[in-house]
Amino acid sequence: MNNEIFETTESAVRSYSRSWPAVFEKASGSKQVSEDGTEYLDFFAGAGALNYGHNHPKLVAAISEYIAGGGPLHSLDMMTPAKREFLTTFRELILEPRNLDYKVMFPGPTGTNTVEAALKLARKVTGRQHVLSFTNAFHGMTLGSLSVTGNSMKRKGAGIPLTNSSKIPYDDYLNGETEDFIWLERVLEDSGSGVDKPAAIIVETIQGEGGLRAARAEWLRGLADLCQRHDILLIVDDVQAGCGRSGSFFSFEEAGITPDIVCVSKSISGSGLPLALTLFKPELDVWEPGEHNGTFRGNNLAFVTATTAFKEFWSDDSFEKGQLAEAIDLTQDKLMKIAAAVDGSSVRGRGLLTGVCFEDPEVAGKVAAEAFQRGLLVETSGPQDEVLKVMPPLTTPLEELQRGLNIITEAVSAVTGVEIAVEDTTGNTLVTS
Ligand SMILES: *Cc1c(COP(=O)(O)O)cnc(C)c1O
Repeated sequence: MNNEIFETTESAVRSYSRSWPAVFEKASGSKQVSEDGTEYLDFFAGAGALNYGHNHPKLVAAISEYIAGGGPLHSLDMMTPAKREFLTTFRELILEPRNLDYKVMFPGPTGTNTVEAALKLARKVTGRQHVLSFTNAFHGMTLGSLSVTGNSMKRKGAGIPLTNSSKIPYDDYLNGETEDFIWLERVLEDSGSGVDKPAAIIVETIQGEGGLRAARAEWLRGLADLCQRHDILLIVDDVQAGCGRSGSFFSFEEAGITPDIVCVSKSISGSGLPLALTLFKPELDVWEPGEHNGTFRGNNLAFVTATTAFKEFWSDDSFEKGQLAEAIDLTQDKLMKIAAAVDGSSVRGRGLLTGVCFEDPEVAGKVAAEAFQRGLLVETSGPQDEVLKVMPPLTTPLEELQRGLNIITEAVSAVTGVEIAVEDTTGNTLVTS
């Protein structure tokens, strides 16, 4: 097979195809098979868009059935039975059991679309322009979401000044040396501080792209409290950490906070089909009809697979408390062992949005390359790609999870020269320990 076309015709902007020079022909569950027949375990999961794995049979069946039945594929924001089912199921299985009363907006199909909508809405509601975001945040690639993103390489790509936002330290950015939010509290109270009162503060509870720092529940509660006292809207960007990735459907559930606005995308369709939602408290619904629109806000196939996924995984807490909790325990346990063996390394993140940060920033990339040679897809995260990012589908069978984590362990040993025990792949004894 000749792959020249990807180099001669596709833009230099392509990236994942460079780290993983394979042509993926088939995919199922936590596995992908390349054209030459090599099987890969996929612990990248579409950057978090495939929480239920590739081509989940029930989701694929729902797609086939919808197409066979002649339902419309595209419908802007018109009403369809697929959208009715989606909204009803989302309300009944996701929002109501969590005591969340949110209006649902379809902002266009991508993560950056929901962030743009959230920022626009916050500015419209408050009449203020400034937005605060956090060091190492990642919120997307269009100008508004880029303005609240940290990464300097990505920001530079804007080509124009990114304005009306500033950065404040994320949890533990100052290594616990200062009290949380001390600077912010002071400047908000001081009319001479020169810091414009923000419309909103946007936060990821776990920083997916920026190095997998996870905010403590108490820090998030402090942030929510500060926002409330100062009449600032709190936006949680749950594009990557949401839909079960953190261990609960929304990543902020553990902290017990109720953000004013929530951004969801990546795994919300369940199938990898594009879909995004902007959720907000009903009193914030000040949009004029059509004031924010877009051609691709009625992806009926995505509605159909999302509805099927809600019913399959979230109709009660058995998936969350069972398979998902076990997968998290096993993953955290194995990563702790790696971090304990390699000097200066530590486990980052939470749930199945986790990884290992190495002291030498070169190590994570080398481990990912070594893992690819051994048939495993894992990526890196952080400003220097210093964190090995482990993000398997939430549905990965424990035996495959164990096998992938063993490959990571071997790859770390190969790169660092540190001996780390690799346990057998039967999994059973390890899982219960
Ligand atoms: C991926 C991501 C986005 C952007 O989503 P796109 O679909 O790539 O535009 C925004 N926020 C977070 C936290 C993300 O992980």
